[in-house]
Amino acid sequence: MTYSFSTNQAPSTKRVGILGGGTAGATIAIRLAALGLETYLFEKNKSLIDGPPMCHLHAGGNLYREIPDEDCVALLKQCIDILRLYPYTIDVRPTVFAVPTRDEGLPEDLLPRLDILTDAYRKLIELDANNKVLGDPENYYQLYSHEQLIELSEREQVAVPHTVDEWMIPVAKYLDLNKVKFPLIVVQEYGWNIFRLAASAQLALEGYEHAHVFTDTQVQQVMPVDCENCSNADHHVTKWRIDYQQSASSDIEAKTDSIEVDYLINACGFRTGIIDDMVGVKVTRMVEFKSSYITHWNDTGGQIPEIIVYGERGTPEGMAQLTPYPGGYFQIHGMSKFITLFNDGLVASNKNSAQPKLPSQYLHYIEDGWDKAPLQARSQQAIDYVAEFVPTFNSARTVGNALYGGQQIPGQDDTLRVADVSLYSNIRYARAENVKASSTLIAADQIVDELTTLGLADNDTQANRNRYAHEWAYLAHNDSLAIDSVARSLAKERGFPIAMACVNHGIHETI
Ligand SMILES: Cc1cc2nc3c(=O)[nH]c(=O)nc-3n(C[C@H](O)[C@H](O)[C@H](O)COP(=O)(O)OP(=O)(O)OC[C@H]3O[C@@H](n4cnc5c(N)ncnc54)[C@H](O)[C@@H]3O)c2cc1C
Repeated sequence: MTYSFSTNQAPSTKRVGILGGGTAGATIAIRLAALGLETYLFEKNKSLIDGPPMCHLHAGGNLYREIPDEDCVALLKQCIDILRLYPYTIDVRPTVFAVPTRDEGLPEDLLPRLDILTDAYRKLIELDANNKVLGDPENYYQLYSHEQLIELSEREQVAVPHTVDEWMIPVAKYLDLNKVKFPLIVVQEYGWNIFRLAASAQLALEGYEHAHVFTDTQVQQVMPVDCENCSNADHHVTKWRIDYQQSASSDIEAKTDSIEVDYLINACGFRTGIIDDMVGVKVTRMVEFKSSYITHWNDTGGQIPEIIVYGERGTPEGMAQLTPYPGGYFQIHGMSKFITLFNDGLVASNKNSAQPKLPSQYLHYIEDGWDKAPLQARSQQAIDYVAEFVPTFNSARTVGNALYGGQQIPGQDDTLRVADVSLYSNIRYARAENVKASSTLIAADQIVDELTTLGLADNDTQANRNRYAHEWAYLAHNDSLAIDSVARSLAKERGFPIAMACVNHGIHETI
């Protein structure tokens, strides 16, 4: 479907080039195109947002016991913002957090932070009632005792749960209650669907006449066009030339071309360092290769929540994460080196290059897909890992597919889970690196501020900042069904079960 709508902004003749059409690049492109800037987005894959996955909306960062409270509050805010931009990408179902008996921690240790998050959520709603996207703040988290679970285990499971008690019935029936500490914690952290996110970004950008999206197009070189005092550290650049090659991944004869832009944004994900090296900026970062596995489990008796069993990252007892999709599909992460993590999977940049070098095996998986045998082995290990806590899950089957990729971590702190955008005003260059996919709108805001300061944008409005749902123009033209249709095609094109492009309960049905 094609449609057009006005940005309500005076068109600008200024051009911005965005390298990389993952969540960061695509979201920044929507924000800039909405301002009327001529926005050029280059993505080497055939469709947008086809890099490392996302399945969990970290609306409170509760998967991470080790990160500071303020990072959790930042993640909560970012997720609320991003959910309002991409409402049709969310699967509304709670997440259950369990501390296993083998773990030294206690569920009670998490409660002070959950209270801080509840309070922060309440305040966000006071600021703007439209922020109430995770239900009532009073129900942001709930606790379930052993006695409650025993009682729920005797109730009949409902196919489509509506209350938290109903969601907890399958947990009470399937989770091995002897292996976890009580209370269990249930939080309104929802599922996040990569196919629907890609579809939303694609449809949003199709609507802006100032957005120029080049998929299947690889950027090969960037070069300063106007450079003053080029040999000095405080040199100035006012224009960049981007050399790119179209049909990068197909058999059609590749076409090369170039374009000049007034501002350059590097959103190349784990390959960000390659562009940093071309631009000539020195940066420290890490890159980690991680994978999750797709499985099918028939015996759920209806929908179940996401289940997290905490554990120490990188040990054989790292966190287990069971993420449900419609149609009986489940995505599994296991934070051990046998499942999601890899012995040599975390690499750092060095003084000669801002680009950390992943072992060639993982680059091969990213470029060409997993090799069958190791994929099968890791997927089965993932099933066994979960079955330790959910014994009947041992009947689940591997489906020969995984969601995986390289994740960039700016700096040297591998526990960092929030945003990072770096601005180099003198050379009109920005780099957006988000450890979590939700951080990207914050990065976009910072870039808009920078463009305004540089005189390249002058029409950002308060409405853009307030993010009222109706302000994202594409939502007026695309409903859940439109997203659904594109998301299904993308899932098929990428070789995933079409059911994985659907959601059971969308956010739009609940608010
Ligand atoms: C296993 C795993 C699970 C994850 N789960 C979650 C989760 O549940 N929730 C969450 O919020 N986050 C999750 N993440 C993190 C999330 O995937 C990343 O934060 C996010 O995808 C980063 O987006 P990005 O746009 O910065 O980078 P990317 O998505 O990597 O996008 C960069 C894009 O740039 C393109 N590119 C690179 N070089 C060029 C070039 N020269 N020319 C053209 N294009 C180029 C690439 O093809 C790519 O599409 C997970 C990551 C992994 C690995």
